[in-house]
Amino acid sequence: MAEEEVAAEVEAVMAMYSDDCKVVEIYPPHLLIHLKPRTADVSSQQFVEAIIAMRAGPKYPEEPPHISIVDSKGLDDLRKNHLISSVRNKAFELASCFMLVALCEEAVDRLSSMNHPDGNCPLCLYPLVDEDAGSNSLPFMKLMSCFHCFHCDCIIRWWNWLKMQNDTNLSTASTSCRDIRDKQGMHKMMEESMGKCPVCRKVFLAKDIEHVLNLVGTHTQLVSYLYRFFKIFSRWYLCNFLKYVYACLVILIVEG
Ligand SMILES: [Zn+2]
Ligand SMILES: [Zn+2]
Repeated sequence: MAEEEVAAEVEAVMAMYSDDCKVVEIYPPHLLIHLKPRTADVSSQQFVEAIIAMRAGPKYPEEPPHISIVDSKGLDDLRKNHLISSVRNKAFELASCFMLVALCEEAVDRLSSMNHPDGNCPLCLYPLVDEDAGSNSLPFMKLMSCFHCFHCDCIIRWWNWLKMQNDTNLSTASTSCRDIRDKQGMHKMMEESMGKCPVCRKVFLAKDIEHVLNLVGTHTQLVSYLYRFFKIFSRWYLCNFLKYVYACLVILIVEG
């Protein structure tokens, strides 16, 4: 009976978190749940998230499940400890009750209350959000791949500096045959290194690069106009090509 009840509870968690819930084991339950703050539907308003593992033993729910953080974004050690200890305390409070859903909710509550960028801008070391500056506070942005946040001005300056470094390195390289190969390799390496977060070196997502380029200037506008032009052109070309194939088929059928 207990086993059926536990399985029903696991199903309830799966129904609530669907794709964000990975069931490693139904009994005793072992779940990995990707939890986000309540504002997460607006991605620009999401600054933290965590994947939490809940692993129960055969004595669950008399014994609470073991809870740990498997992965997280935007949380320093202090905030990670706060999250995990809140969920563990809740588990002890609810001992002997079916608690998996309640523990997920507790984690979502904690993440919602911690959903703000923490500390200083890693590039200039001034606070990201200066409470005293009020509306004069500098605007900031986050990288989607790791949730590290920077002042917009700082990330633009860093991006321009990187570009300048790449150009200088390329122009000082000599142009002998072997060096041309090296130069291409270096160019590729530079392009790759431009897509890494200055704090954790995690590779940017395309979205991040687009965002930084938008901040840097009108470069992206030109790229997006070209992209749109080629998209329309290729659609037109494909359409005409299909018409041509269709006409050939009709002729073949009529004549043959
Ligand atoms: Zn800064
Ligand atoms: Zn990062």
